[in-house]
Amino acid sequence: MQLNYIANASVPSSSGKTIPVIDPSDGQVFDEIQRSNAHDIDVAVHSARDCLELVWSRFSAAERGRLLMRLSAKVAEHAEELALIELRDCGKPVRQARADAAALARYFEFYAGACDKLHGDTIPYLDGYSVMTWREPHGVTGHIIPWNYPMQIFGRSVGGALAAGNVCVVKPAEDACLSLLRVAQLAAEVGFPAGALNIVTGYGHEVGDALARHPGIDHISFTGSPGVGTLIQQAAAERHCPVTLELGGKSPQIVFADADLDAALPAIINAIVQNAGQTCSAGSRLLVEQSIYEPLLERLGQAFANLRVGPAAMDLDVGPLIRQSQQQRVWDFLSDAHVAGIPMVAQGQIVDEAPDTGFYQAPTLLRDVPVNHRLAQEEVFGPVLCAMSFKDEAHAIELANATPFGLAAGIWTCDGARQFRMAKRVKSGQIFINNYGAGGGVELPFGGVKSSGYGREKGFEALYGFTTLKTVAVRHG
Ligand code: NAD
Repeated sequence: MQLNYIANASVPSSSGKTIPVIDPSDGQVFDEIQRSNAHDIDVAVHSARDCLELVWSRFSAAERGRLLMRLSAKVAEHAEELALIELRDCGKPVRQARADAAALARYFEFYAGACDKLHGDTIPYLDGYSVMTWREPHGVTGHIIPWNYPMQIFGRSVGGALAAGNVCVVKPAEDACLSLLRVAQLAAEVGFPAGALNIVTGYGHEVGDALARHPGIDHISFTGSPGVGTLIQQAAAERHCPVTLELGGKSPQIVFADADLDAALPAIINAIVQNAGQTCSAGSRLLVEQSIYEPLLERLGQAFANLRVGPAAMDLDVGPLIRQSQQQRVWDFLSDAHVAGIPMVAQGQIVDEAPDTGFYQAPTLLRDVPVNHRLAQEEVFGPVLCAMSFKDEAHAIELANATPFGLAAGIWTCDGARQFRMAKRVKSGQIFINNYGAGGGVELPFGGVKSSGYGREKGFEALYGFTTLKTVAVRHG
């Protein structure tokens, strides 16, 4: 049984209740986590506050950096263990689970190096004054994490917050807690003081809500669905608590007739099947210039039909979805497509070894999806790619911007001037030209516009969000 991790100790919830942990590859329960409550959050916030005031605020930026660097090395040392935990807890194929563990180590490494490079400015002002700005940590930051990339999102959010001098209370998703509980133990082993990093598990409406409302939380970093993002924003607004929202997407991959299709095709497929399509920035809409629509769909259809889906340990192209309700959600979208007469081009294959009790979904390519259909508007969060054609550049921009979201966009064209025109006019937090995702580098600021959220995580930019700016004006005559 897994316990909460508060003030460098494993502790049970005061509720005495637990939540079963299910392996998505076979649907079987293999562990349990604490079903915590508002009291547990209160204990964690007080531990964090004590740590901040008595210990953490006395660490220099360089000392924080050294600790984060030690944590990075420790995570790298335990990468295989963490990957195997994630494989079972989230159903991630081996390569993805390993990539997530490596990314976590890299986030801590990046933010370790950034700690002592974050500073304010001096500002020229009236004669007789010296004016400067200080970048100060918010204090106790709350982090609400989704289940799709627990280690990566924890790394970018908590790594940045700790580097900026905050202490953290983390609420992982109820479907994906195990790796983060282990990382908190590793943090204690490398010398993080008790209370600097606390993990409280449980349901969102119980523990997440309590975290968002707690008066001792000075900033909330939320990554998750747009609906819950609204609730978090409302809760935070009651006490004017700053929030960063990293929400969903319906990101387009826009392919012009002059694109290098040999390069584009694998990237288009990977962008929708990676993590079984459960990726906020999944390239879930494919916009193709009319003249190459048919040949491109033909090639893509063949590739989709060859994709293999199976248990995480088999490390095939696609693993299971996280849980049965997510599988049902994808089925509901596909049944709506069927009712609307949206043609299916191809589907991958679920291998015979996949247990019937696992949560599998074959990658599916749909074509001629009407722009206003919910498949072209809403996040499916599964391996479903919706293709449609466009006439010209203006039409491509209109379609690209025709959803409530604006997280990422891929643009495939060899015309340099068009690359810039498109990058300027597509409304999105990230634009990828002749690639998709740019390898996910930790250095690259990441976030959305419109209903994809606001604020930026990753890169140096995130550190500004995890600090507040204080202006100090000295009149010295
Ligand atoms: P979710 O919103 O259901 O849950 C996210 C977290 O919020 C979980 O920890 C959950 O327990 C908690 N939560 C749920 N209800 C809550 C409430 N009432 N109050 C406080 N907390 C609550 O999202 P999910 O299903 O875990 O993740 C998938 C979503 O996350 C997708 O929409 C995806 O696009 C988005 N996402 C966005 C990014 C990004 O960087 N923009 C990254 C990953 C995932």
